[in-house]
This record gives sequence, structure tokens and C-alpha cells, in this order.
Amino acid sequence: MPSPSPGRFQFSEILFSVPGLLVLVCLLAAAALLAPESADPALRHYPCQALDTDSRHSPYLLPYRQGTQHWLNQANCSGHGHSRFWNHGYDFKMDIGTPVLAARSGAVMDANDGCTDGDRACTNLIIIRHADGSVALYSHLTKGGIDVVKGQAILAGQVIGRSGDTGNTGELPHLHFSVHPCGALPGLGREGVCPSQPVNFRNTAPNPHGLIAAHFYRAE
Ligand SMILES: [Zn+2]
Repeated sequence: MPSPSPGRFQFSEILFSVPGLLVLVCLLAAAALLAPESADPALRHYPCQALDTDSRHSPYLLPYRQGTQHWLNQANCSGHGHSRFWNHGYDFKMDIGTPVLAARSGAVMDANDGCTDGDRACTNLIIIRHADGSVALYSHLTKGGIDVVKGQAILAGQVIGRSGDTGNTGELPHLHFSVHPCGALPGLGREGVCPSQPVNFRNTAPNPHGLIAAHFYRAE
């Protein structure tokens, strides 16, 4: 190999100088930031997002009847089944057959019925698209518990179905509720590119950071 001409910096000299190291660290950090997300949704990174908004002005109502309360089993970033893509979803413990109400107005984007309670591989669900393009997912509904049809306009507070125990409920009948910036959710024939986003609710105790797991929340 020809030796480098004198007077010129060698790469190794730059690399091992203090400013060179700083530049290298910056380059590596930039590369990490610019690295494309994994194509596999299961391998993507889903940060836990902090929510801090006045819940009295939230666009969302609790998805059950006024005057009733439900135990919140999973909430923002509480782990377990609500990791990664689903990390900002909520699980409200509910007896099978409990009326489920629309948390926000919109139109039915998807509705799936026909799964049997206790079937862990099949989930009855409703997806409602809101005016801003975001969607709300209501899942684990009971068989025959879908009271809406695709395309139907829905008002906040309207009964849309009944809760159940279909799909992966962990043997705990509950309503899964999550909001997503768009409707591409995994397992619905679309690639999962719209991870859950944190939301709070205006018709219950103040919850600026969202609801907290292992608490009861009453719909006022
Ligand atoms: Zn859930």
C-alpha cells in the first residue's frame, strides 16, 4: 500500500482525536435516527407517548352507559397484551352482553360478527372512523353483539354493540378500546402501520394523562 502523503490527516488520526470521536458519535446517532423502521410491524419500536391534555375537552366519552363504572384492566403502556402496537389501548372489564357505546362520532369502517365467545382465534369487532381520519377499535364483542353495519353514521354515545369474550381476552371478558391515527391495523387484512395513540375521556374523573390501570372509571 502506498503510504499517505505527509501533511495530510489519516482517517485513523481523525477517528482517534477527540473532535473526530465527537463527529463519529454524531454520525452514528444521525444514522440511527434516519434508519428506516423495520418492515415487520412486530419488530418496530413503539415508544410510550406521554399525554398531558385537559381531559374535559377530550373528544372521547367512555364507551359505556352513563352512571355505570368499569374496572380498567389495562391502560397506557401497562404492558402484558398492551405492548408495542397496542400500548395505548384500554381494556374495560365487562360482563358479556354489556352495551358498548361509541366514544366519538364517525362512520363504521369495519364490523365483524360471527365469532363465538371463548374462541381465542376469532374476534368480533367494530372500527369507527372519525372525521379527522383517526379510528377507534372496539373489540372482543359477543356473538351477535354487533348492532351497526359498515358505512353507518354513528353519534357519540350511541349503542353500537355488546361486549363479549371473543378472541385473545386472556379469559377475562372485556372491551378493548384503542384509537389509531389511521385504519391500517394488523390482523384485519391490512399492514399494521397505525399504532395506538394515547387518549383521555371527558365524562369521568380528570385524566389528563389518560386512564390509569387497576382503577374503576365511572361514566358521568
Ligand atoms: Zn386490549
